Amino acid sequence: MNNVLVLGAGQLARMMALAGAPLNINVIAYDVGSDKVVHPLTLQVMADSLAQAINEVDAITAEFEHIPHDILDSCAARGKFFPTPDAIKAGGDRRLEKALLDNAGVRNANYHVIRERADLLTAIEKIGLPLVLKSALGGYDGKGQWRLKESTQIDAIWPEMAQCIADSANQAIVAEQFIPFQREVSLIGARNRSGDIQVFNLTENIHTDGVLSLSTAIVGDSPLQAQADDMFRAVANSLDYVGVLAIEFFDLNGELLVNEIAPRVHNSGHWTQQGAETCQFENHLRAVCDFPLGNTQLTRPSAMINILGLDSVPDAVYAQEGCHVHWYGKEKRAGRKMGHINVCADTPEQLQYRLIMLSSLLDENDFPALPR
Ligand code: ATP
Ligand code: MG
Ligand code: MG
Repeated sequence: MNNVLVLGAGQLARMMALAGAPLNINVIAYDVGSDKVVHPLTLQVMADSLAQAINEVDAITAEFEHIPHDILDSCAARGKFFPTPDAIKAGGDRRLEKALLDNAGVRNANYHVIRERADLLTAIEKIGLPLVLKSALGGYDGKGQWRLKESTQIDAIWPEMAQCIADSANQAIVAEQFIPFQREVSLIGARNRSGDIQVFNLTENIHTDGVLSLSTAIVGDSPLQAQADDMFRAVANSLDYVGVLAIEFFDLNGELLVNEIAPRVHNSGHWTQQGAETCQFENHLRAVCDFPLGNTQLTRPSAMINILGLDSVPDAVYAQEGCHVHWYGKEKRAGRKMGHINVCADTPEQLQYRLIMLSSLLDENDFPALPR
């Protein structure tokens, strides 16, 4: 039996637990908020303390990047933390992330770090308008971001940015060049301790109000896949990464720029549960437990739709061909990621048809990215 401790006790830890069971990989999860080590499915308390869990497990990993550094460092000191604390820290601090991307030599949007108002003027001079402004620490789902189109808007948005900087120690804002992309894609892949790499098909992503809404695996030979693979290798190798890594890209006229990385399993890789030979959760555990990686080949055209702020869908959804509903067992809150639906088909055309069929069963306000 392999015992794995996941830092974070949300849906990603839960899906790792589900994927680990057939391999006799036993997953427990540390809930940072309540400081409890729990079973990711039942939330039953599994250890007296984090220290005890760290002692007892064979490997430790993380399901999110905003983890206190002292916890990361104490896990790493035991030699059983994967990927590496540096990868998690870079995923949680846009300054470190930008430096990492530059070091790995992968294209990304020009940027400038802002601590005070004068820095914002320098950013405009250096990068030009429009700017996308992102809090360096703590951002997710598009939270902690501003857009600056005209210099005249500075007076209106600066107080909010200044407040954000003042609110937490070491906080800053990263100003980024606005990229007028045609679409957003992501690449999920795994790297193991021997340096073997397996990547999934590139995924096209649609966000609504900063939150991922629809992901579709890109079928067939895409010229973007090779570009993304190269950039994935550069980033993963530069970190001596172990586990699943996600990279979000902007597709700008056929050239990919990295938006950001997520040093973990990723929402845009959930389709792999039904659409790939080995899903991202299993491959993450395989890497972390030092098993050979599983084949990542696409088995069927697949897409994933996020269920946000709802705790039920019509029964007819369960009856739809190729639809697989995954709930996270969370209490309902407006906009919260409550579950997802994976949709599979024999051909891309049939997949589109099934998504349209599904959209007829679901409210457009709740599922704005579904084709109708
Ligand atoms: P996540 O939940 O994916 O971690 P996040 O809060 O870290 O989200 P980003 O991915 O950095 O946010 O940005 C959210 C969305 O805003 C992107 O998916 C993209 O649509 C848009 N965006 C971000 N940066 C830029 C940019 N430089 N130019 C144009 N659009 C951008
Ligand atoms: Mg992010
Ligand atoms: Mg993002």
